[in-house]
Amino acid sequence: MIGIGPEIKICHLYPDLMNLYGDRGNVIALKRRAEWYGLRPVVDEVSLEAKPDFRLYDVIFIGGGQDREQQLICLDFQKVKGSSLAEAVEDGVVLLAICGGYQLLGRYYQTGDGEQLPGIGVVDVWTVAGKKRLIGNVVIETDVIEGPGPRTVVGFENHSGKTYLGGGLRPFGRVINGYGNNGEDGGEGVLYRNTLGTYLHGSLLPKNPDVTDFLLRRALVRRHGVAELRPLDDTVERRAHEAAIRRARSKAH
Ligand code: GLN
Repeated sequence: MIGIGPEIKICHLYPDLMNLYGDRGNVIALKRRAEWYGLRPVVDEVSLEAKPDFRLYDVIFIGGGQDREQQLICLDFQKVKGSSLAEAVEDGVVLLAICGGYQLLGRYYQTGDGEQLPGIGVVDVWTVAGKKRLIGNVVIETDVIEGPGPRTVVGFENHSGKTYLGGGLRPFGRVINGYGNNGEDGGEGVLYRNTLGTYLHGSLLPKNPDVTDFLLRRALVRRHGVAELRPLDDTVERRAHEAAIRRARSKAH
């Protein structure tokens, strides 16, 4: 369907620097599903130096990256974008941040060399690199998505950073297969206001349509007060989801 509904403004942050394991597929999924719902998605790519007013966006996305990219972004956050991005988070803009992007929303990321990269601190989490990389297919169960009962979410993780949540923050979900935030407390990701931080690459959204819809709904409610999305035929997406669950279970850690 060609969009006749409201415009939905999507910001793809650092597409040239933060794009591991198909992270850009999340932006494609957001755009496609928005179109299928009759909305009019517009995607801006925003990289180093640019300083938009992030509150004007409906959805912001930042993918994962290694320490080298994170160093560049840490500086750009400090000098250019940090305060506007933090204001947008507090204002309820929907933000999806994966892995290295997730880590930089927190207080700091301490690399394996012991260097501390300050994050923007808008979400009360912190990350310390461990000796072992946490790699593999992940299945989590989440109850943050509206609807009957908990939902599974599938993805792929590869990080050495171990992230810890401050008091009062809820993880995105509980790990069924994989490591999640730190491999210790069973939590994966974080949901703070409309900001979802997670370690799940994959891409995450194409095979987790419930998560895509959750983000679109939150964005529409923030802007328009309501979000009525008519059901789509998700047969293919659900098949991909089930296949990812089977794969994760067959190689359980
Ligand atoms: N450098 C970070 C870590 O290993 C982030 C990696 C990533 O984004 N996949 O923890």
